[in-house]
Amino acid sequence: MFERGYAVRDGVLVALDAPVLVIHGGAGVERGDLTAEEERAARDALAAALRAGHAQLRSGKPALDAVAAAITVLEDAPQFNAGRGAVFTHDGRNELDTSIMDGASGKAGAAAGLRRVKNPILLARRIMERSRHVMMVGDGAEAFAQEQDIALVEPAYFRTERRWQQLQKALAAEASAQSSATPPELPGKAYFGTVGALALDAQGHLAAGTSTGGMTNKRYGRVGDAPIIGAGTWADARCAVSGTGWGEFYIRTAAAHEICARVRLAGMPLRRAADAVINGDIPAAGGDGGAIALGADGNVAFPFNTPGMYRGWIGADGVPHAAVFADENLPMP
Ligand code: ASP
Repeated sequence: MFERGYAVRDGVLVALDAPVLVIHGGAGVERGDLTAEEERAARDALAAALRAGHAQLRSGKPALDAVAAAITVLEDAPQFNAGRGAVFTHDGRNELDTSIMDGASGKAGAAAGLRRVKNPILLARRIMERSRHVMMVGDGAEAFAQEQDIALVEPAYFRTERRWQQLQKALAAEASAQSSATPPELPGKAYFGTVGALALDAQGHLAAGTSTGGMTNKRYGRVGDAPIIGAGTWADARCAVSGTGWGEFYIRTAAAHEICARVRLAGMPLRRAADAVINGDIPAAGGDGGAIALGADGNVAFPFNTPGMYRGWIGADGVPHAAVFADENLPMP
C-alpha cells in the first residue's frame, strides 16, 4: 500500500521525498556498554555518515556513491566494528569483510579476510566496477587493491584498546567454559558495530553496502554474512537490505535476499517482509541481530531483536535522524 506521494522520473516510480539514505552501525549495543562520551562520539559519527551520503545524493550522484561515502565515514570512526576499530580474531588480528550491490544493474562486489585495506567498501566497489569477479579474499584481494591504488595501511591501524579488551574477555570466558565443562557461551556480545548503508537516489535507483570486522574471537579464517551477496547485503530495483548480527544465521537464511524476495515475489510490504525475516526466521533458527531495509517507494524498516542497534536515516530535507537503543523513538520518513 502506498503511503506517500510519487512521481515518475526516467520511467521509474520514485518517492517524492527521495533521495533517502539509511544506515546502521551494528546490532547488539546495550545501555551500560557505552560511556556518555562514547555514546556521543557514536551519535556524532552516525550524523556525519548520514551527511556525507546525503551530500552525494543532493549533488545528483548515484546511490552507490552515497553508500560508499557513508560507509567510509563509519569505517574511519573507531566506535564501529568496521575498518578502524574492527574486532579481533582469536589470533589477535583484524580481518575485514565487505560487500556492495547496485540495485539498478544487479552488479555486486565483495571482499573477505582483508588485513591491510583501509576502507574495505572502496575495494568492494572497485571489484564490482573494475574486475570480472564478484568476490576476492585475503592476499589476492589485497594484491588487486594495490593494483587499483586503493589505500593500504599497516595492520596496527585497525587496533583499538576497547576491541583488544573485548578479545581478552572472550578468551577468558572461553577458557573458563572449557575448564568447567559447561558449553561455550553463545556469541551474544561477540558482535556489534558492523556498519551498513542503503541509498535511493533521485533516479529511483537503490544500492546497498555492508562492512565489518566480523565477530570477536573468530578463527579458522571465518567469514560472516557481510560479504556474502544475498546474506548480509542485497539490492534490486525495488528493495535494498544490509544486515547485522550473528552472521552464520544470516547466511543460512539468505536473509537480505529473502526480505527483498518477499517484497518482489509475494508483494509483501517492506516493513512486514523485513520484520518476518529478522524477528521471525532468524530467531527461529537460533540467531539474532537486525537489519535496515529501504524500498524504491521510499519506505524504510529498522527491525532488530537485540537491546539496541545503531541506526539512522536522512531524507530530502537533509536533517539526520539517528537512534541507538531499542526504547528510543526514531521518527520515520
Ligand atoms: N554480521 C557480522 C558477522 O557475522 C557481525 C555483525 O553484524 O556485527 O560477521
